[in-house]
Amino acid sequence: MRIAFRILTVRKLIFTAIFLSLIPALLTADWMPVEWMNDPGVRDSIRIEQAGHQTYIDLKDIANTLGIKWLSDSSNRRIRLDTPVQPLIFSVRSPFILAGDELRQIPLPVRMHQDRLLAPLEPLVALLADYYPGEILYDPSRFKLLVTPPRHDLFGLRYDIQPGLTRVIIPAGRLLECKTEELNDQSILLRFPGGRIDTAAFNNKAKAGLIVEVRAEQQAMEARITLIPDSAASFSRFEQITDPPLYCVEFTGQSWGGLDPEAQKRLDDDKIAWALDVVVIDPGHGGKDPGAIGPNKLYERDVVLDVGLRLRKALESKGVRTVMTRDTDVFIPLGRRAKIANDAGGKIFVSLHCNAIPGGNARGMETYFLAPAKTERAVRVAMTENSVIKFEESRDQYQDLTEENYILLTMAQANFARESEELAAIVQQQVCSGLSLRDRGVDQAGFYVLIGASMPSILVEMLFINNKTDTKKLRDRWFRQQMAEYLCGAIIKFLEKSRG
Ligand SMILES: [Zn+2]
Repeated sequence: MRIAFRILTVRKLIFTAIFLSLIPALLTADWMPVEWMNDPGVRDSIRIEQAGHQTYIDLKDIANTLGIKWLSDSSNRRIRLDTPVQPLIFSVRSPFILAGDELRQIPLPVRMHQDRLLAPLEPLVALLADYYPGEILYDPSRFKLLVTPPRHDLFGLRYDIQPGLTRVIIPAGRLLECKTEELNDQSILLRFPGGRIDTAAFNNKAKAGLIVEVRAEQQAMEARITLIPDSAASFSRFEQITDPPLYCVEFTGQSWGGLDPEAQKRLDDDKIAWALDVVVIDPGHGGKDPGAIGPNKLYERDVVLDVGLRLRKALESKGVRTVMTRDTDVFIPLGRRAKIANDAGGKIFVSLHCNAIPGGNARGMETYFLAPAKTERAVRVAMTENSVIKFEESRDQYQDLTEENYILLTMAQANFARESEELAAIVQQQVCSGLSLRDRGVDQAGFYVLIGASMPSILVEMLFINNKTDTKKLRDRWFRQQMAEYLCGAIIKFLEKSRG
């Protein structure tokens, strides 16, 4: 294990050295014409950068040119291009691109230059051609980018498959009205008046999850899609998102297709490539943000910092490297916490908090992972923790975590959903039984602090700071030490399990 690790480190160093040696070769910026094939009168251009013989292009620039939405993480080391076909996730220094469940590769890694993420032009265009519903081509002889915008409004669908649930996601090139009809056999007919559909792209779609067949039809006045689930499944929800235009149809049922083993392996390999053994400890709140306040001025910010420091000590004594988002009483914006975690190459992210509900009757421990909340209680906890953005100067970065936004904002973290849930379960079980705490269970909700972290992430609500029984424990130094030690034990258990 140790030897393998060293080799990995050496390789990484060599890789980094090669990468660094390339930087001075990055020379002048230039402009390349973009020709719109549907409208030869319109001329555009796009900025490119030359490094030796290699031409690079800014991922944000090309996304903007093609009208593809993008979202970069807070550290700007990763960017997601929401092509209508699949979201594509690019990471700095990596030649691998995560396209939905699939891992794609370009010959040269993505590089960062002056805060911009650059990809090699030719391979990038070849890759994008698979995900852009129109046509895109680089013509090296004329040094031009040739683009034909999509001819259809509906050009395919993708699946989000979870145990017992299959979500069909249909993106559209423009916002269309959609009428849904439930047919007798649990099938759903979607009608898009005035819509133009690429029927081949739908009719060739293999069955997946709970869906056994997809039929698409172009009629004179409308486009039609029929989704047919297997006999044990039933339609549960339809939802429309306006920006970007997306239509989601959810089916629930017993059977579960799941990912094919090959795709799952690629996904796992990718996760391993990202993993490093650093535990990121995030004591919530701090400085001007006291968090929840208990009797006799017991502040959440102080309790979680103390437990966090003890947890660091406990983990490091076991040889686990740690990084803290704060180790003093300072205010750290929520988005910055994930950036610290990503920059540190964290393997897991643990955010520490204390609960509080008016009345002070509730007590016990809860552990959360990031997923849309399903209970009133979880919504309330997330709202309370998210409300601390009121202390921050720029709040624009926090979009509403509605269900539709949620899908788009959290796609990267979704890769770690299973591990986050597993980590939450281990922590909740180990700490509650070890300390004989009232076990309020593992739950899910949309916490801003967990969104940007590219690793399994949980939020621990240790106890209720405004409950008589709980607050006595939280005040107690011995209890805090025990809490830290049980958290440490649970984290190590998870790390060992994930190492296999
Ligand atoms: Zn809190």
